Amino acid sequence: MEANSESPPVRLLDEINAETRIAILAPHPDDESLGTGGLIQIATSRGAQVHVVFVTDGDNNPWPQRFVERRWFIDAPERARWGARRRLEGQKALALLSQGQATSESLGLPDAGILALWEAQMPGPKPAIEKVFREWQPQIVVVPSEIDRHPDHQATHEYGLDAIRQIGLHCLVYSYCIHRPWSQKMLRRHVASDALTLSSHEQSQKLAAIQCHETQMALSAGRFSKFASPLERYTLVQIS
Ligand SMILES: [Zn+2]
Repeated sequence: MEANSESPPVRLLDEINAETRIAILAPHPDDESLGTGGLIQIATSRGAQVHVVFVTDGDNNPWPQRFVERRWFIDAPERARWGARRRLEGQKALALLSQGQATSESLGLPDAGILALWEAQMPGPKPAIEKVFREWQPQIVVVPSEIDRHPDHQATHEYGLDAIRQIGLHCLVYSYCIHRPWSQKMLRRHVASDALTLSSHEQSQKLAAIQCHETQMALSAGRFSKFASPLERYTLVQIS
């Protein structure tokens, strides 16, 4: 889909109805709640279908793991166990947000390693993402922002757009930003072009979903809780 400056502005909220299929790409368990916790609630309450692709299990997360598990050395078995725990947290949060309606899949790719895969031109998450797009034909695809500071988010953005182009999927693409560029944070600005306004109930449900991520609450409760705010921001992405 191509939009231009003469097109009337597309509003995400207006595009969601009982016929809509929405694919969300989440680099880690927690992005589904922090980035799209309001969208998942609104979409599923309208009867839309939501499918989340978790690219990694968030297993490369040493400082929270050291803090929660009171251990210094983290080897492969501990890391795998942490990833399994985070995978379950993501599923629990998604079930809460969607009242059990949303579906998901976890690709288990290397946490903090997605940009390296992209730069090495490895398939990474692409086959799985393409399969969802080809078989399910979502009308809305939600990807991390390309300006997000986290490399996994940048790379997931690129893989998502690449898959859309590869199969010629006709869809609206929106991005969400979790780790904003420092310039935006310091100026207290957002450059997002669209936003969903969440009711107080939706905000409290979003907070409850964020709190499902107990492994992250230990060190980041304050920062994470701020995402349960009245506005959930998105940017309409142009596919070239
Ligand atoms: Zn993330």
